[in-house]
Amino acid sequence: MTLLPRPTASPPAPIADRFGRIKRKLRISLTDRCNFRCPYCMPESPEFMDRADRLSRAELSRILMLFVAELGVNRLRLTGGEPLLRRDLEGIISDAQALRPFGLERISLTSNAALLEKRAGALKAAGVDDLNISLDAMDPAIFGTLSGGRSIKPVLAGIEAARDAGIPVKLNAVIIRGINEGEILPLARYAAAARLPLRYIEFMPLDGRGEWTRDRVVPQADILEHLRAEFAVTALPRSNDPAAYYELDDGNEVGIIATVSNPFCASCDRLRITADGSLYPCLFSKHGISLRDPMRAGADDAALAQLIRTTVWNKDAGYAANPGYSDRPIAMNSLGG
Ligand code: SAM
Ligand code: SF4
Repeated sequence: MTLLPRPTASPPAPIADRFGRIKRKLRISLTDRCNFRCPYCMPESPEFMDRADRLSRAELSRILMLFVAELGVNRLRLTGGEPLLRRDLEGIISDAQALRPFGLERISLTSNAALLEKRAGALKAAGVDDLNISLDAMDPAIFGTLSGGRSIKPVLAGIEAARDAGIPVKLNAVIIRGINEGEILPLARYAAAARLPLRYIEFMPLDGRGEWTRDRVVPQADILEHLRAEFAVTALPRSNDPAAYYELDDGNEVGIIATVSNPFCASCDRLRITADGSLYPCLFSKHGISLRDPMRAGADDAALAQLIRTTVWNKDAGYAANPGYSDRPIAMNSLGG
């Protein structure tokens, strides 16, 4: 195994696909396991991968070095399944600190926050820059429906603990017709009171149960209509963030990630890796390319970098070009959202 020893004098050549989209953001799923059973994500009876198939801390460290120092990725998001189920999470984050001199700008985490209260301080000490926390409802019963019967209390305590530890938090809420449109305003009120940015996410056809239908999507326009019932809503200038942002007249900011009604594939700068080390260039890719297998078979960094460049080069146009191609064998808890 060859590890790159020192920062290079010049920045690495950026990695791009055949449509000219440069990749700067990498999301790595650390486990496909989860302590929640959100129906819009998890299969009914999930079959989890063996622990031995998962990338180890050392393998993660090597892959990350490659993506940052060789391929120009500068933002890392650790996700899952539930990343807090990994006992070595703080270690993985502290390993990633070594990539800052190579150009890594942010280390972020996405979590359901149920196990966060006791670990927020350690995560801050390990060097996490920010946290996205999923919160789909304020009503405990609706929260239960959308989490597979879990309680909202530890999640709210986790959010508080992260704030107390000084970690910037953003909230994410998946909105599903007939289940939690009525929570759009309560979530906005909670976020405003807590001074936390909130993003609503359209329900995507990536659920492990295959229950997605278009009429269950609450599109961006409808989410805005709900918000306008209580707030004056001003659109903010669009960046290349997947969310469109709005300012409410209470001063808080909300975003809407409209993957279904307004896909942002043309500016996609993301790559994804599953917990067993498969590279998925797109959230909607049907298959991944294993980086783990060649790595375990002794491939050197140059060979791995070439494999990654070729896979990324061949990335599909995306959901916008193929709105039917949600039919794939991997569920969201494996791919990481
Ligand atoms: N367990 C963590 C959590 O829930 O935040 C991290 C993993 S989860 C797969 C990452 C994100 O994907 C969450 O914000 C979740 O709401 C979102 N997600 C999962 N399934 C989805 C779907 N079918 N449509 C839209 N978002 C989805
Ligand atoms: Fe778990 Fe997150 Fe999927 Fe919910 S959305 S089941 S918390 S991985």
